[in-house]
Amino acid sequence: MSTKTPQAIRGTQDIFGADAEAFAFVVETFERVRRLYRFRRVEMPVFEKTEVFARSLGETTDVVSKEMYSFDDRGGESLTLRPEFTAGIARAFLTNGWQQYAPLKVATHGPLFRYERPQKGRYRQFHQIDAEVIGAGEPQADVELLAMADQLLKELGIHDVTLHLNTLGDGASREAWRAALIDYFRAVKDQLSEESQERLEKNPLRILDSKDPRDKAFLADAPKIDAFLSQEARGFFAAVTSGLDAAGVKWVRAGSLVRGLDYYRHTAFEFIPDEGGVSAAALGSQSTVLAGGRYDGLMESLGGASTPAVGWAAGIERLAMLVDAREEAALEFAVVVEGDSEQLHAAGVRTAMMARSEGVTAEVFAAGSPRKRFDKAVKSGAKVIMAYSEDADGNLQPPRMKGDEADIERIGQALREFAVKLGA
Ligand code: ATP
Ligand code: MG
Repeated sequence: MSTKTPQAIRGTQDIFGADAEAFAFVVETFERVRRLYRFRRVEMPVFEKTEVFARSLGETTDVVSKEMYSFDDRGGESLTLRPEFTAGIARAFLTNGWQQYAPLKVATHGPLFRYERPQKGRYRQFHQIDAEVIGAGEPQADVELLAMADQLLKELGIHDVTLHLNTLGDGASREAWRAALIDYFRAVKDQLSEESQERLEKNPLRILDSKDPRDKAFLADAPKIDAFLSQEARGFFAAVTSGLDAAGVKWVRAGSLVRGLDYYRHTAFEFIPDEGGVSAAALGSQSTVLAGGRYDGLMESLGGASTPAVGWAAGIERLAMLVDAREEAALEFAVVVEGDSEQLHAAGVRTAMMARSEGVTAEVFAAGSPRKRFDKAVKSGAKVIMAYSEDADGNLQPPRMKGDEADIERIGQALREFAVKLGA
C-alpha cells in the first residue's frame, strides 16, 4: 500500500473558514427568500439514470456530450451524477404524480458534477441553489420567479448584477430562427471555430454563445429572434417585461442570449455582473451568477404530458465570492476550568450549556495545563470570562469573572433565566 496521502479530486474544493461562512450565508438567505415566495423544499437524488439527463438536455449539448460523470453501476445500469437539478426534478414530477400539486413551486440546493476545465468560479463539483415552477404556463410565473431571484441578490448585498433577458419564442418561432441561423452561418462556415462548425447543423443557437473571436465576428449580424416571433410569443414576452417593470426588477434586452440546453422556450435569462463593477472584477471571465428560463418542452422529452414550467439555478460558489466577508460566530462567553476534578469539569460544562441554551455563544477551556487555560480564554477574545477553581481543601470557589460590567450583567441574566426555567 502507498504511504502517500491521497490528493483531492481535481476541480473539487474543501471549503473552510470565511469561504464556508459566505457559502452558508448564501444558502440561509435563499432558504429565507424562497419561503417568502412560498416555494416548497425538495431533496433530490444526487444520481439518476443517464437517460434522464440525455433526453432532457439533448445529446448535442456540452453538458451531455462532454461534461457528465457517467458510469455503469454493479448491476450494469448507466447512471450519471447530476450535472443540474431541473431534469431530475422533472423526472420526479412525473414518477411521483406531483401533477396533483400543480402549479408546483419547488426549491432545492446541493452539489452538482460536471467534467469541466477547473478555473476560478468553475469546478467539477460545484453547488447550486435552484427554484422551479412546474405546471404554470402564464408569464406571471416567469415574473414571480425573476422577482425572487432579484430579491435574493439584493438581500445578499449584490447590487451590481443585472438581469439580461431574451425570448426564444415558442417551438415554431424557435425552429424558424434556428433554420435562419443555419443558413446564415453555413455561408461563413469555414471561418468559424472548429467547435461551431461542428454544431452548425445540430445546435446553431449555441454558436451565439461562443466566446471564440472567430465566431464573435459574425454574431452582430446574425438573424435575431424578433423577426421570427409568432404573435403569441411576442405577447408572452411583452407580458413578462411589463410584469418585471411593475415589480421593479431592472432588466436589459439581450437579443443573442441563448441557453445551451434544448429544452428552453420563451423566456431565457442570465444575471450578469455590470461591466466595470466590483462583482465583475471578483468573478473574472466566469461571470454569470444565476441563469434559467422556461422549459415547456421538457416533460414531453421524458415521456410525460406537455407541462409548462420555468426555473433558474445559481452557482453558490460564485455568489459566495460576491458577498461581503461574513464573520464566524464571535465568542461571547468563555468558561475556564482551573483544575481537573470532576466537580470543576461538571461546573464548567453545565454553565456553558446554560449559556448556549439562552442563545449565548460559549466555549469551555478545560484542556492543557490548568494554569494556561485562563490566558487561552483571554486570547480567544471572549467578552466575558468565568473561571471555576477550588481551594486547597477541594471546595468549589465562587467563580471569578472578567469583562465589561454590562456584558457580565447580560450573561449573568441569561444564566439566571435558564435557572428559573429549570425551576431551580
Ligand atoms: P457557463 O456558460 O458558465 O458554463 P452554464 O450555462 O453551463 O454556465 P448553468 O447550467 O446555467 O450554467 O448553471 C447555472 C449557474 O451555475 C451558472 O450561472 C453558474 O453560476 C453555476 N455554474 C455552472 N457551472 C459551474 C461550474 N462548473 N462551477 C461553478 N459554478 C457553475
Ligand atoms: Mg457550462
